[in-house]
Amino acid sequence: MAFDRSQDLPRYSGPVNSSPQKIYDVAVIGAGPGGSAAASGLARRGLSVLILEKAAVPRYKTCGGGLLHRVRRQMPGTVAQVVERECHAITLNFLAARLSFTATRAEPIVFMTMRAELDQVLVREAQRLGAELIESCLVKNLVSHEQFVEIATDQKMFRARFVIGADGVHSLTAKAGGWSPLPRLAPALEWELQLSAEDFSRFGHTARFDFDCIDSGYAWVFPKRDHISVGILSTSRTKQNLPAKLENYLAAIGLKQILKSEKHGYLIPLAPRREPLARGRILLVGDAAGLADPITAEGISYAWQSGQLAAEALVETDLNVATAAARYQALLEKNILRDLRAGRFLARVLYDYPRLRTVAFRWQGQRLTEFVAAVVMGERGYADALKNPASWLKLFDRGKRL
Ligand SMILES: Cc1cc2nc3c(=O)[nH]c(=O)nc-3n(C[C@H](O)[C@H](O)[C@H](O)COP(=O)(O)OP(=O)(O)OC[C@H]3O[C@@H](n4cnc5c(N)ncnc54)[C@H](O)[C@@H]3O)c2cc1C
Repeated sequence: MAFDRSQDLPRYSGPVNSSPQKIYDVAVIGAGPGGSAAASGLARRGLSVLILEKAAVPRYKTCGGGLLHRVRRQMPGTVAQVVERECHAITLNFLAARLSFTATRAEPIVFMTMRAELDQVLVREAQRLGAELIESCLVKNLVSHEQFVEIATDQKMFRARFVIGADGVHSLTAKAGGWSPLPRLAPALEWELQLSAEDFSRFGHTARFDFDCIDSGYAWVFPKRDHISVGILSTSRTKQNLPAKLENYLAAIGLKQILKSEKHGYLIPLAPRREPLARGRILLVGDAAGLADPITAEGISYAWQSGQLAAEALVETDLNVATAAARYQALLEKNILRDLRAGRFLARVLYDYPRLRTVAFRWQGQRLTEFVAAVVMGERGYADALKNPASWLKLFDRGKRL
């Protein structure tokens, strides 16, 4: 669909900068999955899009790189080049209770990637569709004017009618736009480990999620092409010694001989910002908005989806500043926020009541694991699970619908 330019805004000629300067339709800050989804969606419809990324692409990103089936199928085909392993099985282990459940599917449930390569492929696709990328360009401030936003960077000033903040948990866009801080952040570690051939053959096929190794959280092993990514996170408000917990976890699962390791840590947002996620000419997506799964803490799919929704809202409203923000918020509410609220409720049950969790899994562990797989596949949402509490158990049955 060609973009309707009938409401093109007049060019600004005021006092901000006297030289005539290009005004992009949209500037996207950050070239992670959220930024690339937004830029692709806008460039595809013929809008002029500028992506500003502080790092040089490709850049390392602390992340498990687990791409859920439900988002992989929405991404460009070129992602196949960077999938290091396809996991057709996920295993949930409850170490204290010695319980283990595996859900297996004919199609991959999780696609394992390294984020440097994944993000590079996604931003190249946005460029192929017409977006302009400026790398190694740190955005330092934003000033909203009546007709556009002025973007100060360490290279030069840019102007755009709208700005999409896809700049992660420490979002400068959100700060400059006046949003309050993200209400809850979970610390998480990600270690890249080289193993012996024997160990790698034991851990190299299934995405495993292990409980009871940390308060209010879990640890994981994600197999990559020739190494494993292991990680740990806690949603607890009490400070925990994550490196020590991760070391203990590796010993508990029998991983003592590590040939080489690279250790990283970062933050995951557990709840969206309190205010609406767009105001005036600025929209927030992905981690910048606080859109990550409160149960699994995965955020690539919400970053991708919110980037697409931001693009949709801007296109649908013809870049109309009076309606774009409300349209984006409505799309988020329908497609993401409702589900995240339900997820937060389920996360409390899962993490704050470990005894109840053990009882539930002892009783219905396989069904609950199938439910998790169905959420990852995109067949179910958390909100579906809460719609009718009387039918929770029925819902956990694969194949049955509410
Ligand atoms: C340890 C750990 C493990 C995780 N594992 C998974 C997983 O397996 N699967 C999953 O789905 N999610 C996982 N997540 C969450 C996931 O990494 C994030 O939710 C996801 O990266 C969010 O994408 P985004 O595009 O919003 O932001 P990001 O990927 O953070 O991208 C933001 C971009 O903005 C750039 N930027 C920042 N500030 C500026 C600035 N001022 N100027 C210009 N550019 C700027 C950054 O350089 C970066 O490229 C994990 C997170 C952590 C911490």
